[in-house]
Amino acid sequence: MTKITEGVYFIPGQDDFIPDSHVYVVGEPSSLDLSLVDVGLMGKAEYKIESLRKTGMELKAIKRIIMTHTHLDHIGCFANILKKIPEAELWVHTLEATPLEKGDERTVYGMDMFKTMCQAQFGLKSGVFSFQVHRKLEGGESLNLGGMDWEVLHIPGHSMGSIALYHRMKKILIPGDVIYADHAIGRFDLYGAKASDLKKSLLRLAELEVDILLPGHNQIVKNLPRGYIQKTARQWEPYLV
Ligand SMILES: [Zn+2]
Ligand SMILES: [Zn+2]
Repeated sequence: MTKITEGVYFIPGQDDFIPDSHVYVVGEPSSLDLSLVDVGLMGKAEYKIESLRKTGMELKAIKRIIMTHTHLDHIGCFANILKKIPEAELWVHTLEATPLEKGDERTVYGMDMFKTMCQAQFGLKSGVFSFQVHRKLEGGESLNLGGMDWEVLHIPGHSMGSIALYHRMKKILIPGDVIYADHAIGRFDLYGAKASDLKKSLLRLAELEVDILLPGHNQIVKNLPRGYIQKTARQWEPYLV
Protein backbone atom coordinates (compact mmCIF):
# COMPACT_ATOMS: atom_id res chain seq x y z
CA MET A 1 0.00 0.00 0.00
CA THR A 2 1.32 3.44 -0.84
CA LYS A 3 0.28 6.86 0.37
CA ILE A 4 -0.84 9.14 -2.43
CA THR A 5 -1.54 12.14 -0.26
CA GLU A 6 -2.82 12.81 3.26
CA GLY A 7 -5.88 10.60 3.70
CA VAL A 8 -5.65 8.70 0.39
CA TYR A 9 -3.88 5.35 0.05
CA PHE A 10 -3.50 2.99 -2.87
CA ILE A 11 -3.44 -0.81 -3.04
CA PRO A 12 -2.75 -1.77 -6.68
CA GLY A 13 -4.82 -4.49 -8.28
CA GLN A 14 -3.10 -7.75 -9.25
CA ASP A 15 -4.48 -8.69 -12.63
CA ASP A 16 -4.98 -12.37 -13.22
CA PHE A 17 -6.99 -14.22 -15.81
CA ILE A 18 -9.09 -11.07 -15.85
CA PRO A 19 -8.25 -7.65 -14.39
CA ASP A 20 -8.38 -6.95 -10.67
CA SER A 21 -9.40 -3.42 -9.69
CA HIS A 22 -7.27 -1.14 -7.58
CA VAL A 23 -8.43 -0.36 -4.06
CA TYR A 24 -8.22 3.12 -2.57
CA VAL A 25 -8.37 3.74 1.15
CA VAL A 26 -9.87 7.10 2.00
CA GLY A 27 -9.84 8.94 5.32
CA GLU A 28 -7.36 10.23 7.86
CA PRO A 29 -6.04 7.14 9.71
CA SER A 30 -6.33 8.99 13.04
CA SER A 31 -10.08 9.41 12.46
CA LEU A 32 -10.57 5.63 12.72
CA ASP A 33 -13.23 6.14 10.05
CA LEU A 34 -11.81 4.69 6.85
CA SER A 35 -13.52 3.77 3.61
CA LEU A 36 -12.41 1.33 0.94
CA VAL A 37 -13.24 2.30 -2.60
CA ASP A 38 -13.83 -0.97 -4.51
CA VAL A 39 -12.40 -4.32 -3.41
CA GLY A 40 -11.43 -6.28 -6.53
CA LEU A 41 -11.64 -9.67 -8.14
CA MET A 42 -12.24 -13.09 -6.57
CA GLY A 43 -9.15 -14.37 -4.77
CA LYS A 44 -7.77 -10.84 -4.42
CA ALA A 45 -8.96 -10.04 -0.91
CA GLU A 46 -6.21 -11.61 1.18
CA TYR A 47 -3.24 -9.64 -0.07
CA LYS A 48 -5.21 -6.42 0.21
CA ILE A 49 -6.16 -7.16 3.82
CA GLU A 50 -2.53 -8.06 4.48
CA SER A 51 -1.47 -4.80 2.91
CA LEU A 52 -3.77 -2.85 5.26
CA ARG A 53 -2.46 -4.76 8.27
CA LYS A 54 1.16 -4.17 7.36
CA THR A 55 0.71 -0.42 7.41
CA GLY A 56 -0.81 -0.65 10.85
CA MET A 57 -4.34 0.27 9.80
CA GLU A 58 -6.87 -1.36 12.03
CA LEU A 59 -9.45 -3.39 10.14
CA LYS A 60 -12.09 -2.21 12.62
CA ALA A 61 -11.45 1.33 11.41
CA ILE A 62 -12.84 0.41 7.99
CA LYS A 63 -16.42 1.49 8.32
CA ARG A 64 -17.62 1.13 4.76
CA ILE A 65 -16.93 -0.05 1.27
CA ILE A 66 -17.98 2.31 -1.48
CA MET A 67 -18.28 0.77 -4.94
CA THR A 68 -17.54 2.89 -7.97
CA HIS A 69 -19.68 0.26 -9.74
CA THR A 70 -20.45 -3.42 -9.32
CA HIS A 71 -18.57 -5.16 -12.14
CA LEU A 72 -16.99 -8.47 -11.18
CA ASP A 73 -13.44 -7.11 -11.21
CA HIS A 74 -14.44 -4.57 -8.52
CA ILE A 75 -16.88 -6.52 -6.34
CA GLY A 76 -15.65 -10.11 -6.89
CA CYS A 77 -13.91 -10.52 -3.52
CA PHE A 78 -16.47 -8.55 -1.50
CA ALA A 79 -17.71 -11.66 0.37
CA ASN A 80 -14.15 -12.46 1.46
CA ILE A 81 -13.47 -8.88 2.52
CA LEU A 82 -16.69 -8.93 4.53
CA LYS A 83 -15.50 -12.02 6.42
CA LYS A 84 -12.55 -9.98 7.68
CA ILE A 85 -14.52 -6.75 8.21
CA PRO A 86 -18.07 -7.90 9.02
CA GLU A 87 -19.17 -4.54 10.41
CA ALA A 88 -18.38 -2.60 7.25
CA GLU A 89 -21.29 -1.11 5.35
CA LEU A 90 -21.73 -1.35 1.60
CA TRP A 91 -22.52 1.84 -0.32
CA VAL A 92 -23.53 1.59 -3.97
CA HIS A 93 -25.37 3.79 -6.44
CA THR A 94 -29.07 3.01 -6.29
CA LEU A 95 -29.23 1.82 -9.94
CA GLU A 96 -26.82 -1.00 -9.13
CA ALA A 97 -27.80 -1.44 -5.48
CA THR A 98 -31.32 -2.62 -6.29
CA PRO A 99 -30.22 -5.44 -8.64
CA LEU A 100 -27.42 -6.36 -6.22
CA GLU A 101 -29.92 -6.80 -3.40
CA LYS A 102 -32.14 -8.94 -5.62
CA GLY A 103 -29.28 -11.11 -6.83
CA ASP A 104 -29.71 -9.88 -10.40
CA GLU A 105 -26.15 -10.44 -11.62
CA ARG A 106 -26.41 -8.91 -15.08
CA THR A 107 -24.40 -5.84 -14.10
CA VAL A 108 -21.82 -7.90 -12.22
CA TYR A 109 -20.97 -10.07 -15.23
CA GLY A 110 -21.84 -7.64 -18.00
CA MET A 111 -22.61 -10.33 -20.58
CA ASP A 112 -23.81 -13.94 -20.61
CA MET A 113 -20.71 -15.29 -22.27
CA PHE A 114 -18.56 -13.68 -19.62
CA LYS A 115 -20.76 -15.08 -16.87
CA THR A 116 -20.39 -18.64 -18.16
CA MET A 117 -16.64 -18.22 -18.55
CA CYS A 118 -16.09 -16.70 -15.09
CA GLN A 119 -18.37 -19.13 -13.31
CA ALA A 120 -16.34 -21.99 -14.78
CA GLN A 121 -13.00 -20.33 -14.05
CA PHE A 122 -13.76 -19.37 -10.46
CA GLY A 123 -16.24 -22.12 -9.56
CA LEU A 124 -19.02 -19.62 -8.87
CA LYS A 125 -22.68 -20.49 -8.56
CA SER A 126 -25.45 -18.25 -9.82
CA GLY A 127 -26.79 -15.87 -7.20
CA VAL A 128 -23.63 -15.48 -5.09
CA PHE A 129 -23.56 -11.77 -5.85
CA SER A 130 -26.48 -10.82 -3.68
CA PHE A 131 -25.67 -8.37 -0.91
CA GLN A 132 -27.42 -5.98 1.40
CA VAL A 133 -26.65 -2.38 0.53
CA HIS A 134 -26.59 -0.04 3.52
CA ARG A 135 -26.60 3.23 1.66
CA LYS A 136 -27.90 3.81 -1.82
CA LEU A 137 -26.15 6.75 -3.42
CA GLU A 138 -27.85 8.96 -5.97
CA GLY A 139 -25.05 11.30 -6.97
CA GLY A 140 -24.86 14.84 -5.62
CA GLU A 141 -24.08 13.81 -2.04
CA SER A 142 -21.36 15.51 -0.04
CA LEU A 143 -19.79 12.89 2.16
CA ASN A 144 -17.50 13.44 5.09
CA LEU A 145 -15.26 10.40 5.02
CA GLY A 146 -12.80 10.21 7.87
CA GLY A 147 -12.39 13.97 8.13
CA MET A 148 -12.32 14.62 4.38
CA ASP A 149 -15.04 16.07 2.17
CA TRP A 150 -15.84 14.07 -0.95
CA GLU A 151 -18.53 14.66 -3.54
CA VAL A 152 -20.39 11.82 -5.22
CA LEU A 153 -20.94 12.20 -8.96
CA HIS A 154 -23.20 9.86 -10.89
CA ILE A 155 -21.35 9.19 -14.15
CA PRO A 156 -23.22 6.46 -16.07
CA GLY A 157 -22.12 5.07 -19.42
CA HIS A 158 -19.61 2.35 -18.52
CA SER A 159 -22.32 0.94 -16.25
CA MET A 160 -25.67 2.33 -15.10
CA GLY A 161 -24.66 3.17 -11.57
CA SER A 162 -21.05 4.24 -12.02
CA ILE A 163 -19.99 6.92 -9.58
CA ALA A 164 -16.91 9.04 -9.08
CA LEU A 165 -15.63 10.42 -5.81
CA TYR A 166 -14.21 13.92 -6.09
CA HIS A 167 -12.23 15.91 -3.56
CA ARG A 168 -12.63 19.49 -4.73
CA MET A 169 -9.99 21.10 -2.50
CA LYS A 170 -7.30 18.55 -3.19
CA LYS A 171 -8.43 18.10 -6.83
CA ILE A 172 -8.54 14.32 -6.58
CA LEU A 173 -10.82 12.26 -8.81
CA ILE A 174 -11.62 8.57 -8.32
CA PRO A 175 -13.63 7.79 -11.48
CA GLY A 176 -13.86 3.98 -11.39
CA ASP A 177 -13.70 2.63 -14.94
CA VAL A 178 -14.96 5.75 -16.71
CA ILE A 179 -11.57 7.25 -17.55
CA TYR A 180 -8.00 5.99 -17.18
CA ALA A 181 -4.47 7.18 -17.84
CA ASP A 182 -3.16 7.30 -21.42
CA HIS A 183 -6.43 8.75 -22.76
CA ALA A 184 -8.23 5.44 -22.30
CA ILE A 185 -11.88 5.20 -21.28
CA GLY A 186 -14.08 2.41 -19.97
CA ARG A 187 -15.73 -0.04 -22.32
CA PHE A 188 -19.29 0.68 -23.22
CA ASP A 189 -20.51 -2.62 -24.66
CA LEU A 190 -21.55 -4.41 -21.47
CA TYR A 191 -25.01 -4.74 -19.95
CA GLY A 192 -26.26 -1.36 -18.73
CA ALA A 193 -23.61 0.59 -20.63
CA LYS A 194 -24.57 3.43 -22.94
CA ALA A 195 -22.16 5.28 -25.20
CA SER A 196 -24.08 8.56 -25.22
CA ASP A 197 -24.22 8.58 -21.41
CA LEU A 198 -20.50 7.91 -21.26
CA LYS A 199 -19.91 10.92 -23.46
CA LYS A 200 -22.00 13.11 -21.17
CA SER A 201 -20.22 11.75 -18.12
CA LEU A 202 -16.79 12.45 -19.62
CA LEU A 203 -17.80 15.98 -20.52
CA ARG A 204 -19.05 16.48 -16.99
CA LEU A 205 -15.76 15.25 -15.53
CA ALA A 206 -13.93 17.54 -17.97
CA GLU A 207 -15.36 20.54 -16.09
CA LEU A 208 -13.61 19.54 -12.88
CA GLU A 209 -10.17 20.66 -11.85
CA VAL A 210 -8.21 17.46 -11.40
CA ASP A 211 -4.58 17.09 -10.36
CA ILE A 212 -4.66 13.50 -9.18
CA LEU A 213 -6.47 10.85 -11.23
CA LEU A 214 -7.05 7.55 -9.44
CA PRO A 215 -8.76 5.16 -11.86
CA GLY A 216 -9.93 1.59 -11.33
CA HIS A 217 -7.08 0.07 -13.32
CA ASN A 218 -3.63 0.71 -14.75
CA GLN A 219 -1.55 3.79 -14.01
CA ILE A 220 -2.50 6.39 -11.47
CA VAL A 221 -1.61 9.96 -12.45
CA LYS A 222 -0.36 12.69 -10.15
CA ASN A 223 0.05 16.09 -11.81
CA LEU A 224 -2.58 15.39 -14.44
CA PRO A 225 -2.03 17.78 -17.36
CA ARG A 226 -4.60 20.60 -17.67
CA GLY A 227 -7.37 19.69 -20.07
CA TYR A 228 -6.57 15.97 -19.97
CA ILE A 229 -10.16 14.82 -19.45
CA GLN A 230 -11.52 17.21 -22.05
CA LYS A 231 -8.94 16.06 -24.59
CA THR A 232 -9.76 12.43 -23.86
CA ALA A 233 -13.49 13.09 -24.21
CA ARG A 234 -12.91 14.84 -27.58
CA GLN A 235 -10.81 11.96 -28.89
CA TRP A 236 -13.53 9.46 -28.06
CA GLU A 237 -16.52 11.59 -29.04
CA PRO A 238 -16.91 10.14 -32.58
CA TYR A 239 -17.29 6.65 -31.08
CA LEU A 240 -19.67 7.64 -28.33
CA VAL A 241 -22.93 7.94 -30.22
ZN1 LIG B 1 -16.09 -1.81 -14.94
ZN1 LIG C 1 -12.83 -2.54 -13.79
